[in-house]
Amino acid sequence: MDYETIRKNFESHGFSTQFFATNEEAKAYLAETVQRTTIGFGSSMTLQELGLYEALEKKNTIAWHMKTPSMYVRRLASHANVYITSVNAVTETGEIVNIDRIGNRVAMTAFGPRNCYYIVGKNKITKNVAEALHRAKHVAGPKNAQRVKSETPCAVLGDKCYDCNVPGRICRMTMITERAPYGMQSEVIFIDQDLGL
Ligand code: SF4
Repeated sequence: MDYETIRKNFESHGFSTQFFATNEEAKAYLAETVQRTTIGFGSSMTLQELGLYEALEKKNTIAWHMKTPSMYVRRLASHANVYITSVNAVTETGEIVNIDRIGNRVAMTAFGPRNCYYIVGKNKITKNVAEALHRAKHVAGPKNAQRVKSETPCAVLGDKCYDCNVPGRICRMTMITERAPYGMQSEVIFIDQDLGL
């Protein structure tokens, strides 16, 4: 994997980028950059593993339904000044793929606040959109279905997506962000460690 190529490709698609060797460096950067504001967090094991809530809560007000599970907190997050989320996959060619159940994450990254940060572990980097979609469906999908205890075939068997049509289906919309949304500052923060599902 060539981070310089990834940087060039994302920046040519309108994203700003940051690259860090460790979780601690990325956390320190965000704690320095995002202060005295309101922040919405997306559903994300990456953010949880980073301990980002704890790093940012002292100087900000954060709405995160993984701390306080409710639709109300998701709606609060949708009014924040800053949105921070992870991804299901990114590509070396500069695209982002996210699959969503409720839609809060795809909505906020498409038509959200002025500032949006994506946190990306190296395990989320794929070669192209086809690989990214495959990862989102067949790797992240079953793991996330197990995490939220959905009654889906992928949660039971844990091996792949079955393109189910059951009420517990967590894959209800798929967003490929090919260019940074117009009117938003979208920054992709790469961390050279495995993070999230
Ligand atoms: S479509 Fe259904 S089977 Fe496939 S990953 Fe999503 S929840 Fe699992």
